[in-house]
Amino acid sequence: MKFEIKVENVKESRISQFDPENIGFGKIFTDHMFVADFKNGEWTDLRIVPYGPFSLSPATSAIHYGQAIFEGLKAFARAESETEITLFRPSENAKRFNRSATRMAMPEVPEALFLQALNELLDLDRGWVPRTPGGALYIRPYMFATDDFIGVKPSENYRFAIFCCPVGPYYNKALRVKVEEDYSRAAPGGVGFTKCAGNYGAALYPTALAQKEGYDQILWTDPIEHKFVEETGTTNFFAVFDNEIVTPSLTQTLLAGITRDSVITALKHLGYSLTERPLTVKELIDRHAEIKELFITGTAATLINLDGFGFRGTYYSVYDETKIDASQEVKKFLETLKLGRVSDPFNWVEIL
Ligand SMILES: *Cc1c(COP(=O)(O)O)cnc(C)c1O
Repeated sequence: MKFEIKVENVKESRISQFDPENIGFGKIFTDHMFVADFKNGEWTDLRIVPYGPFSLSPATSAIHYGQAIFEGLKAFARAESETEITLFRPSENAKRFNRSATRMAMPEVPEALFLQALNELLDLDRGWVPRTPGGALYIRPYMFATDDFIGVKPSENYRFAIFCCPVGPYYNKALRVKVEEDYSRAAPGGVGFTKCAGNYGAALYPTALAQKEGYDQILWTDPIEHKFVEETGTTNFFAVFDNEIVTPSLTQTLLAGITRDSVITALKHLGYSLTERPLTVKELIDRHAEIKELFITGTAATLINLDGFGFRGTYYSVYDETKIDASQEVKKFLETLKLGRVSDPFNWVEIL
């Protein structure tokens, strides 16, 4: 089924003000955005309009009670093409968006609508996808409750929108992480597996404390015993030992990264032995000498190596350039795949 999306073009594109050699992250927005409103039980008024502010009631319920979710994905300039762009597994983002929506008592966005809106918006703003090395277009689909009513109950009205910002290459220094034992990101039965706004707000304070101690990010542990490693900041965690690669198995308190899933599949495809299983902080410390590399994965950076981790005041240094191997091989594999440069054994790449 095709949805009817009205398009209002910008009178004048801002693209000439955009310098692809000097982008930064998240401050420049493309000409257009997609917007839809949920009213009387259905998505209505599907439209692509010039990027610009919303006007909202002071009582907008998302601001008070946090019914707000988002996704993040990227479009890339296809290699050896002037105009084609690629998307990486966008239907996985659509599905995860709906898992978040269900948990937050919000309406689902039909996957076909999510994907059509994305494709039409990108088609219009494709000129904003940087063709400079390491550049990409970051895409932010999100939904929030719009009832102007301050009773605590699920909103009846919602807005679903998508905007895009060009992003430059990610600066890839090896990160120092702190094993967190005082604060928790998520709890069993809670919302840790969703991309709901509150998860990120709640992580800012403990992260700022860790940064004051000289760390870049938190290595979250399970919320019950603080014994099991979960994930890092807003990225998933991998440990490469001499004879096996381990990533924590998915639980209710872990966010199922699409990059995580892609890295697992790609590492196996490249011949590495990888296990998804519970991983304790104690094992990381006891087998510290066997660790070849630690790395984290997510859409923003694909993959970043860790310098080491701090636990109760002791810093365990890990990064050794001579041992870096699996992370760089899989990163390169995924990056060339996303640019449409190699054949795609998993049908992950969509060309637009
Ligand atoms: C988004 C996110 C990730 C990474 O997911 P990707 O789909 O790989 O971008 C990991 N952890 C958290 C908490 C996240 O919000």
